[in-house]
Amino acid sequence: MAKIGDKVSVEHKDKRYDGILMPSEEDSKDILILKLVNGYNIGFDKKETKVKVLESAREYKFPSAKLTKDKKLPKIVIITTGGTITSKVDYKTGAVHPLIRPEELLAQVPELSKIANIEIKNPFAVLSEDMTSKNWRDLAKEVMKALNSDAIGVIVTHGTDTLAYTASALSFMIKDLNKPVALVGGQRSSDRGSFDGALNLICAAYYCCSDIAEVSVVMHGTSSDDYCLAIPGTKARKMHTSRRDAFRPVNSLPFAKIYNKGMIELIRKDFNKRSTGKVKLDNKFEKKVALVKFAPGQGPGVVDYYAKQGYKGIILEGTGLGHVAITGLNSWIKSIQQAVKKGIFVGITSQCLYGRTDLFVYSNGRKLLDAGCIQLGDMLPETAYIKLGWALAHVKNSEDVKKLMLENISKEISEKEDPKSYLY
Ligand code: GLU
Repeated sequence: MAKIGDKVSVEHKDKRYDGILMPSEEDSKDILILKLVNGYNIGFDKKETKVKVLESAREYKFPSAKLTKDKKLPKIVIITTGGTITSKVDYKTGAVHPLIRPEELLAQVPELSKIANIEIKNPFAVLSEDMTSKNWRDLAKEVMKALNSDAIGVIVTHGTDTLAYTASALSFMIKDLNKPVALVGGQRSSDRGSFDGALNLICAAYYCCSDIAEVSVVMHGTSSDDYCLAIPGTKARKMHTSRRDAFRPVNSLPFAKIYNKGMIELIRKDFNKRSTGKVKLDNKFEKKVALVKFAPGQGPGVVDYYAKQGYKGIILEGTGLGHVAITGLNSWIKSIQQAVKKGIFVGITSQCLYGRTDLFVYSNGRKLLDAGCIQLGDMLPETAYIKLGWALAHVKNSEDVKKLMLENISKEISEKEDPKSYLY
């Protein structure tokens, strides 16, 4: 029987096609996929084909480097969670392999073993869009263990799509942070010349050697391989689908620029400094929270739905200063009033992302405040969503939830805007 990666000939309706047998999609196992010599993929109904193996696939071995231990170097723990940065495409089959063996990661980034002795943990491997609150909680526990060990810092590798959500989750779930924690992803896989994960990992390792005891996203600052930015975990956002410098700070300056040879240029001085204490895990999370984006012409049914489903909190992404429709059939006022009456926290953020909410400027904003909404200033919608899940697992009473949501816990709220932070 033909195996994935075998060179085969396929007979279909009196025609012959030669190529490499590819893996079928999970949900269409009755389709046979063939990579033709010209590089295009073609699909056949398996029942209508006759397959002959021309050449068996050779087993592909990814390069690996020896894990060495140098007594003069400090220890850094790398926790891998999945995503492009720890994947490698096997061009023979087109399949993406998770690259989680420490020796394989080190072979991709040999510079790491000159900066520190690396220990790798892999609590789970998922694409980051599949992350759940359980993953955040498990990861926080793993980070806590590493921070309370003899490691000087922790690097978490992660799919880029939801990396910023996880950065926020770790920012709230680990108390009394004592060492640097860097979240790192890759926009390109490690077998491509433009692999960005190497520089991100190198800069993250240098970040771990610094005194910045903060959860930061450490990713390319420009599209070249010159430096990375260390962006506060609650203020980072993926702003481009494919650029290597996709992550930008929003409503904040980065903590630092980290150059590829290890030079660290501090941009902010108000960071939590490295200390010798132990961290505490605070990873309770209420799952029944929702993030809802308003669009003109859209009624409030979604709020009614979540209220009916027993949700405990909703973050709304309003327009501009934080608005939603308040007149006519599409008005959201009644639904919000009813939700708040039920004890549901309704927080307002802005879909502008940059700047802060201000519901006192227009009368429609005031109506939202009267309906019981709480405006969340310059907090990013995603950060507010994570913070709300965390806050609701700690306090129940509406006033206490409000107090906690408006308290600046991990640099998620800025007092005033630094003009240099816009489109940094
Ligand atoms: N969408 C996947 C993820 O976020 C792969 C892309 C990536 O790692 O950047 O995990």
